[in-house]
Amino acid sequence: MQKLDPYLNVDPGTLNPYEHGEVFVTDDGGETDLDLGHYERFIDENLTKASNATTGSIYSEVLDAERRGDYLGGTVQVIPHVTDEIKRRIRSLSASEADVAIVEVGGTVGDIEILPFLEAIRQFRLDVGRRNVCYVHVTLVPFIGPTGEQKTKPTQHSVTELRSRGVQPDVIVCRSDRPVSEALKHKISNLCDVPKEAVVNAPDVQNIYELPLTLHDEGFDDVVHDYLGGDLRPDLGEWLFLRNMADNPGSHGRIGVVGKYVSLADAYLSVAEALRHTALHQGAMVEIVWIQAEELESAGFESRLADLDGVVIPGGFGERGIEGKINAAEYTRAAAIPCLGLCLGMQAMTIEFARNRLSLAGAHSTEFDRTSAHPVVCLMEEQLNVTYLGGTMRLGAYPAHLRRGSFVERIYGRGVISERHRHRYEINLEYRDRLESAGLKSTGLSPDGLLVECMELDDHPFWLGTQAHPEFKSRPNRPAPLFRAFLEAALDRAAGRKPTLLDIN
Ligand code: GLN
Repeated sequence: MQKLDPYLNVDPGTLNPYEHGEVFVTDDGGETDLDLGHYERFIDENLTKASNATTGSIYSEVLDAERRGDYLGGTVQVIPHVTDEIKRRIRSLSASEADVAIVEVGGTVGDIEILPFLEAIRQFRLDVGRRNVCYVHVTLVPFIGPTGEQKTKPTQHSVTELRSRGVQPDVIVCRSDRPVSEALKHKISNLCDVPKEAVVNAPDVQNIYELPLTLHDEGFDDVVHDYLGGDLRPDLGEWLFLRNMADNPGSHGRIGVVGKYVSLADAYLSVAEALRHTALHQGAMVEIVWIQAEELESAGFESRLADLDGVVIPGGFGERGIEGKINAAEYTRAAAIPCLGLCLGMQAMTIEFARNRLSLAGAHSTEFDRTSAHPVVCLMEEQLNVTYLGGTMRLGAYPAHLRRGSFVERIYGRGVISERHRHRYEINLEYRDRLESAGLKSTGLSPDGLLVECMELDDHPFWLGTQAHPEFKSRPNRPAPLFRAFLEAALDRAAGRKPTLLDIN
């Protein structure tokens, strides 16, 4: 799968999460659009940087080539140079073993920025043969409340606009907040010159993991299959299993997520999805309670956390709200509430533990306090006085070795794991022994033993942090081990049960 993004940023790494939502990280260290997270969750395949191409990255490739003289003095133009580069990106997917590439053109038909992409996909069909390309156009079918009708006008307009660019859709997927009638499909079919069975409805669903089943019921895969041929029949077994689980949730849990960007839930999309699908998989329902980290900085904050069954402190950058995250870590530790710290979350837990259990006043991360008396979290080069990994972001999949007999090793069920990273700061080596002797154990380490990957606390139902982002690898059909274990602990708490996982001890 591939997402073509019409914006000019070279990658989404620098985009404000408020505007664009989370930055999704691939195994090979790509900082990509969050849609790639959905792609991975739906097709259960690891994608690479090649699966995301922005206008910015395409232009920068073309401009670099121009500077190198690759165009031999020719005039460099949107058509053919930019469109050729777009087609090259699409073709680059053929290096994988995939039979079909699903390429999403982001944005909206009618946008100025989208034109080179439409031109490129138009040409692409000519290049590879008609029956090798199927154009699927997604349109909105709005419901007008007062008149009680669904409107086909936006669909007609965007199809007209697409046609003026030389692209006639083969399938139209109608997004709507309620099912569209057969009569309406008929109308769209007539107006847009698409066979009626190729007008497919994707109404809002209770949980997005129902969508493959909805689209199947609508005959979507039949239409695409008939069009492209080959062996494209989906195996829906795992989706049926999930729907079954969703229909009969056996338990409920309330999970707080303490973050800086909580007003836009997309900023923590993979964390939220990991919580939801892990719960579904365990036959449970979670209610996610979004908690603005700064709100945990004033007196009485405890009441915001007291009736939660578990707390996730997700990743983040920048100082705002950090003391609230540290407070959340302290409260969950003291109140024996399951707490999962992801990246910055683990760093906040470590700072809290150093300040309150080791009495290291002023303990902090040098990200927030450069002159901290106790920099328990710092840059690698600050600790070792060497340049480690160039002082830049640690991005993509890294292995970790888990301590034998540790909680985290039992959770993963193996001794070596690989999770995705996106951070600069690390737990300071110098404090590791002191943290350990007070009960906060570094049970996951980088293969060279220098970097702390996982930390866990003794005598607590679940107080565990990871320097990685396991949410990026969590899939609805195989939830991330740390999310499973965390939710199990939280659901135990919700049901007033003794922690089951710790009983393995
Ligand atoms: N800001 C922290 C760091 O750079 C944590 C980053 C994160 O949570 N992804 O190390």
